[in-house]
Amino acid sequence: MNKYVLALDQGTTSSRGIIFDISDGGRSVSSCSKEFKQIFPADGWVEHDPSDILMSQLYAAKEAIRRAKISTDDIAAIGITNQRETTIVWDKDSGRPIYNAIVWQCRRTAELCDKLKADGSAEIIRKKTGLLPDPYFSATKIKWILDNVPGARQDAEAGKLMFGTVDSWLIYNMTGGRVHATDYSNASRTMLYNINELKWDEELLELFNIPSSMMPEVLPSCSVFGYTDLETFGAEIPIAGVAGDQQAALFGQCCFEVGDAKNTYGTGGFMLMNTGDTPVYSNNGLLTTIAWGMDSKVTYALEGSVFVCGAAIQWLRDGLKMFNYAYQSEDIAASVSDSGGVYFVPAFVGLGAPYWDPYARGLIVGITRGTTQAHIVRAVLESMAYQTLDVLRVMEEECGAKMQSLKVDGGASANNLLMKFQSDILDLPIIRPSLVETTAYGAANMAALTVGMYKSIDEIKKSNKIDREFTPTMDSSVREEKLKLWHRAVEKSGGWADNR
Ligand code: ADP
Repeated sequence: MNKYVLALDQGTTSSRGIIFDISDGGRSVSSCSKEFKQIFPADGWVEHDPSDILMSQLYAAKEAIRRAKISTDDIAAIGITNQRETTIVWDKDSGRPIYNAIVWQCRRTAELCDKLKADGSAEIIRKKTGLLPDPYFSATKIKWILDNVPGARQDAEAGKLMFGTVDSWLIYNMTGGRVHATDYSNASRTMLYNINELKWDEELLELFNIPSSMMPEVLPSCSVFGYTDLETFGAEIPIAGVAGDQQAALFGQCCFEVGDAKNTYGTGGFMLMNTGDTPVYSNNGLLTTIAWGMDSKVTYALEGSVFVCGAAIQWLRDGLKMFNYAYQSEDIAASVSDSGGVYFVPAFVGLGAPYWDPYARGLIVGITRGTTQAHIVRAVLESMAYQTLDVLRVMEEECGAKMQSLKVDGGASANNLLMKFQSDILDLPIIRPSLVETTAYGAANMAALTVGMYKSIDEIKKSNKIDREFTPTMDSSVREEKLKLWHRAVEKSGGWADNR
């Protein structure tokens, strides 16, 4: 049997292709990343051209294959992971999109979501989908397309249109238009999928006025979705693993047991915890979501998102010009033994979980005559750890379970000073895998499992290698004092932009 799996990681700013050698413990053999255009048609609106998404993804895949010096025939399976919630509607006959992809970040449907909250729909939505009414999710984006593209509503009602998240769009095109499907994890981000009954929810489809004929078939994340088209791809390869990016990372980090959690330190921060076969509902603004479907079983997760994480380091680099490369933040911060009493709250766009204050704004407090650039850089790094603690505490409380360790990934997890401080602040071991491409790795492992390259998830676990573990050494009284000051700083940042 062939030993290679191709992972397609279709992200918000770039498409990546990575080849993994499953016979060699899932070693990454080659990769290619291709950026594509971001379209901002109005303030707060974000779009992608669906053909840019497809073309950049096919380019990255083919280039990764070329760099690995293998041929398409050597690939046993394909795994897909993708930017979540982003919405594409296309014509069933021509396969052509009727509008650009509306990206998850796009806020154009904020008013509609305010209305949903005002008319009491939030509770129904939460119970059925595990989500909050927010423009983030696909439902209001689909409605916007049907309401605003001329002729779209009639065509939808005549059964001529198809909706898909980015995974569906890729699957549809890569199978030559033969398959219109998505997986449980992506379906659970649309705000139209009933995560308890595992079906598109009639009541919600009606609420948003979306014909059910547009919806893709929902399949387990670990299953064969279809085979690539000989013409587009040069070989018929099974697409055998599909999951949204954060869920794929949870899988890639081998968080297979209830209570296992990972935190991603990217532009924003995303913590997901495996809650097993029961959905856990949050009273503190965490989302309930489907992690993946495997065999005939679904695994759920709780998710907490922090809006600004590594982006605060970008701000120090590009906005304040404190250094040229993000990694330099570590040496600068290490030149002082602590933040010198300085606290930074990265509420650039308000605060997400667990505060949910859209009016909070960024704050640096505790500055004295002795404060240096190094103290501020250190305070910024430390703020990522404090925000993670706030989300983790809510998760533990709502699950009634105590975490034993936290697995980490994402760009800023390379920062050793941050990881050591994270361990100290959480009083927990922090585990960083040697393979940082956990998202792509997760999708590849799902595909490898489906086609039998792995016999079980235990076998996947064995191949998972740790780069470094950070253990806590901070005195608990020091920790408590720091947390007290952090929470005071958060309080002071609250409501700042609400100056009515
Ligand atoms: P995304 O997938 O959201 O684009 P990445 O996982 O690639 O994000 O991480 C990039 C983010 O991590 C950037 O915001 C960058 O500022 C931050 N970052 C990268 N390396 C470091 C580092 N060594 N220390 C601190 N932050 C870092």
